[in-house]
Formats: sequence, structure tokens, C-alpha cells
Amino acid sequence: MSIIKKLQERVSATGLYVFLICMAGLGILLYTNHWSFMHYSPTEWVTIYSLLGAVLILEHFTFQLPPASNKQSMDSSVYLACIFVHGTEIAILILLFNVLIAAIRYRELSWWKHAANFSIYALSIFLSSAVFELSGGTQGGLNDEHFTAYLLALFCYFAVNTVTLGLYFYIAYKGSLNELKKAFLAESLLVYLCTLILSLVLTTLIYHNGILGLLLFLALSMLLSHAFKQLFTMYREIEEKANMDRRTGLYNHSYFENALETELNIAKTQNTPLSLALIDIDDFKKYNDHFGHLKGDQLLGFLGEILKKETSGTNIIVSRYGGEEFTLLMPDHTAEQAYETVNAIRKRLNDSRYEGVEIFPHGCLSFSAGIAQSRIDIYDKSQLVDLADKALYYAKKQGKNIVHTHGSLNELEREVDLGQDIRDIEQQLNLFLYKDINTFKHSKRVFRYAADMSEVLQLGPEDKRRFILGALIHDIGKLEIPWNILNKKEKLSCEEWTMVQAHVMWGKRIIEANERFVDLVPFVELHHERYDGGGYPFGFKGEQIPRLCRMLTIIDSFDAMTTERPYQPTKTFDEAIEELRACSGSQFDPELTAIFIHHVQHKQPAFMDSIEADH
Ligand code: GH3
Ligand code: MG
Ligand code: MG
Repeated sequence: MSIIKKLQERVSATGLYVFLICMAGLGILLYTNHWSFMHYSPTEWVTIYSLLGAVLILEHFTFQLPPASNKQSMDSSVYLACIFVHGTEIAILILLFNVLIAAIRYRELSWWKHAANFSIYALSIFLSSAVFELSGGTQGGLNDEHFTAYLLALFCYFAVNTVTLGLYFYIAYKGSLNELKKAFLAESLLVYLCTLILSLVLTTLIYHNGILGLLLFLALSMLLSHAFKQLFTMYREIEEKANMDRRTGLYNHSYFENALETELNIAKTQNTPLSLALIDIDDFKKYNDHFGHLKGDQLLGFLGEILKKETSGTNIIVSRYGGEEFTLLMPDHTAEQAYETVNAIRKRLNDSRYEGVEIFPHGCLSFSAGIAQSRIDIYDKSQLVDLADKALYYAKKQGKNIVHTHGSLNELEREVDLGQDIRDIEQQLNLFLYKDINTFKHSKRVFRYAADMSEVLQLGPEDKRRFILGALIHDIGKLEIPWNILNKKEKLSCEEWTMVQAHVMWGKRIIEANERFVDLVPFVELHHERYDGGGYPFGFKGEQIPRLCRMLTIIDSFDAMTTERPYQPTKTFDEAIEELRACSGSQFDPELTAIFIHHVQHKQPAFMDSIEADH
């Protein structure tokens, strides 16, 4: 390996750049310093110390201009004034003292950073001083004939400063030139102009009034810095008020709209994923009606806190969309990742204790959410909101407390539209919304599994109809079970258990009342029979139980095992599959169990998500 190559490996581009800058700084120090400070008079030292003091004070009393929060220091005006009145040597000397003081104050910074800082400013001072003299400027008081020289010197000072610093960041952080332009030029233009005027004012003051002039200048700068700071604080407060929702402490609707537009553009230009979740509290009206609007407001605040806490430290933007609706704008999140996050928050909310939750149908705080991921064909922000809203509507229709991702539905399921029959049965199931929300949701999920399994088992149209409708209505008899038994958390007594078991018989009677559905009776009546004959109501065994009823028993049990309840752990899909296997041949038909397990394990992830979302 050649020596050059070895050197290249050891020395990075940044290191080389800093080295060259430091060499230039050292060169300037040696070139401009004629050791004349050995012979300075006490008056000259006083001038130097007071100018140094001025630099230190100005570094402390910075100017913070809205909207950017960069603190701008006016210390450059002292160096410039020093060039105009006293010349380069003194200006460099003051700079050297200043950097030495900084090196002592900020010992944690490495020495080369201080050296580089000195060198960059030394370069600016030296070159602008040279330009000043070359363009006819002379040291002393302000001379209106030399106005061009002052202007050129200032321009040179900032050009050198900006270019050297900018190049450093460009090399060190591999940024784009555009970003640099934005950072260094746009924000600083006003400050450059201020500095020029201040340096000219200071030149006159120092020349004519010496230290008194300097003190006047400093007093004015300090007052201005204070006023600017107040202005900046006020700006931030007003900005915050304009963007924040007071009730929840989250961003408000208009902030969300702007952020959505910005993030959509970023996602498009950088080809990164972006997801939006629309969240709506379940049955909030009920809570308001029961406890009053004031308590309702407190609940909104509580959810706001949870959303904030759960997303802190992430790039997720949480806003109150309006009323009891919230949005999570999730840059760099695919729909799957967004689903994971929002669903975890939903579970956390389900499990959080809150006063008065017993009035909710789920017995806990809950929300429904719709998720949509940005796509290439979405060109307007309202389209993404619309997709998330559709998904949210679907989640609500499935019985609430669900996160649903737009477009994750099984295509087969959409094909199966038994129209009026389904609508009629759903009408009856709606009674569960008041009595037992879990049975409502369970019925809908079992229906969807059945739709899926009817394809797997390649059922003919008539069997398919019966199986799907039978699955949807199989628990209808539970309408007859008293509310307190249905929702009881403790163990059931023997008597109560008999009543629960009777739901299959009651269901049968309800169904028989409608001529159109009498062929669904076996599903309602036999879904608790066991393959080994140990079930109820008849104790039928094996082939005595119709094949599709045996299938329904498997689906029904699988869903019951994986049903999520607040304050309780749920069986995972894998654990439930294990349980099915363990009971295959005893409780369940072994052949159908194998088919179902195979199907569940090989389903597309999107479908599993949509089923899991409902648990
Ligand atoms: P769903 O589960 O279908 O979302 O039912 P819901 O009752 O939550 O929804 P709905 O949209 O019917 O009602 C929302 C209610 O939210 C209506 C309104 O009284 C209440 N609401 C909206 N904004 C506020 C608010 O700022 N404070 C309070 N206390 N209530 C609000
Ligand atoms: Mg609403
Ligand atoms: Mg609501």
C-alpha cells in the first residue's frame, strides 16, 4: 500500500480542512503580529481590554429573531469597528484573547475547535481589513468618502466567515449546498445589515468618545437584546397558542392540516412511507350525557395525555382533529407499523383505570381508529383523510374498540354479499349493541372466518349461504340471557351456567319464528356439540353433527380463545392454535381442525391483521 493511500485512510476530509484553516489562522497571527503589544501604552491596553469586554458582553446578550430560533451575536461589529479605527493587529489580538478565554470557559470542547474558531475569524478579519485598505479606507474616525470601503470590508468579512464555516459543515455533515444556503444566507442577511450599521456607529463612538462611547453602545445593545428576547418569547407564545388545542394540549386542526401537507410532500419527494390514523372515542356522547360536558372535557384531556405520552420521543404528530376525534400523523410508518402502534395505544387505553367507565359497553375507555397509508396516486391531503375516515367507519361498524387499516380486508369477503339476508340478521344483532357488545363483535368475526372457510372448503352457493348466515346468527339465543349473567365477571353458579347453556334452544326458537332462516337452525342449535359426544344440548357424536356445524364449533372456539378483554391477557394466535391441536379429536373434528389451522397459518398477513384488529 502506498504512503499516500495510508495517509488518506488516516486523515479524513474534515480533518484536512480543519488543519488547513488552522494553518492559515496561525499564518495570519504571525504575519499581523509585530510584537508591538510589548510597547503598548496603558491607554492602549485599556482600549484593548474594553473592546474585549465588549465582545464578551455582546456574546452573552444575543439577538433572537423570529421565526428562526438561532441566537445571533453582534460581536462582529466590535471587530469591524476595531479594524476601521485601530487596524488589524489589535483586532486579531482581541480575537486571540477572546478565544483563549473561551478555551478556559469551555474546556470540554476539544482544542482544535477553539483553534479552528480563531482561525476562521482571523481569516475574516485579515481579509476584510486588506479589502478595506485596498479600496481606499483609512484607519480613524468615520469618513463618508470611504463608504464603499466600509461596505466592501463588511461584505468580505461575512463572505469569508460564511464560506469557511459553510464548507466545514458541508464536508463534515455531507449536507447539500441548498441547505447551506438556507442556513447561512437567508437567516443571517438581516443580522449582517445590523452588524454593518452597528459597526459604523461604534466606529464613530469609539473614535470620538473612547470608552464612554463604547459603554453607550453596550448599554444600547443590552437593552435591545432584552427587548428582542421579549419579542421572541411573545412570538413563541402566540405561535403556540395558534397551533395548540387548549383542552388537550395537542396540536389543533389547522396545525394538523399544514403538517399533513408538508409530510405528504416529503413522503412523495423522498419516497418514504407516511400513515395517518384517525381516532374517534367510542360512545363519548353516552359519557357526556351521563356525567355532563365538564367531565367529558376532562376525559378528552386524559386521552390527550395518553396520546402524548405514548408517542413521546417519536416523530408522530398528534392533533385534536375536532370534537372527540384525534389524528396521528406518522411519518416513516407503513400501514402495518402504524397499526401496531395505534393498536398498542388502544390496548393501553382499555387497561387504564378511569372513573365512570362502567357506563361504556366495553366496560373500559376505548376508541376506534382508521389507518390509511399514503400512496403515489394520492395528490390531495383530503384524500388520505378520507381513506382513514372510511377505515374508521368500518371499525365502528364492526362494534368499535377496533383499529382498522384501509384496504386490508379480505377480497373474498367483499365478494360475499348476501345482501338483504345479512342486513336482516344484522338488524337483530344490533340488539346486542346495548346488551352485550362482545357477542355482537364476536358474531361479526365468526361471520368473517366463515366467509373465508367457505372458500377454503369450496362450498356450493347454498351451503355457503347457510354456513355464513348461520355463523352470523349462531349466538342469537344469548339475547334471552339476563344482562347480569351475560356481563358477570365472577364464576357462574350452576343455575346460571344452565341458563347460559340454554341459549342454543332459545336461539332455535327465535330463528324458527322467521321462515326464511329455518335452515340455519342446526348452526344455532348444535354449535356447542363436541366431536367426542361430550357437548350440549344433545351430546351428538362425530358424524352425527353436521360437518359445517363441526366447522363452526372450531371457528367459534378459536375466536373465543383469542378475544381480547380489558384488564385480562389474551391468548395469542399461536397459543390458540396449540389449544385447537390439543383438543383435536376430543372437542373438535380432527380433519376440519387441521384444515382450519392450515388456513389460519397461511393467510395473508393483511387478512390476519384485519381479524386481529377486531379482537
Ligand atoms: P361513536 O362511538 O359512534 O363515536 O359514538 P359517540 O357518542 O362517541 O359519537 P358522536 O359523534 O355521536 O358524538 C360525539 C359527541 O362528542 C357529541 C358531542 O356532544 C361530544 N363532544 C364533541 N366535542 C366535545 C367537547 O369538546 N367536549 C365535550 N364534553 N363533548 C364534546
Ligand atoms: Mg365522532
Ligand atoms: Mg365517538
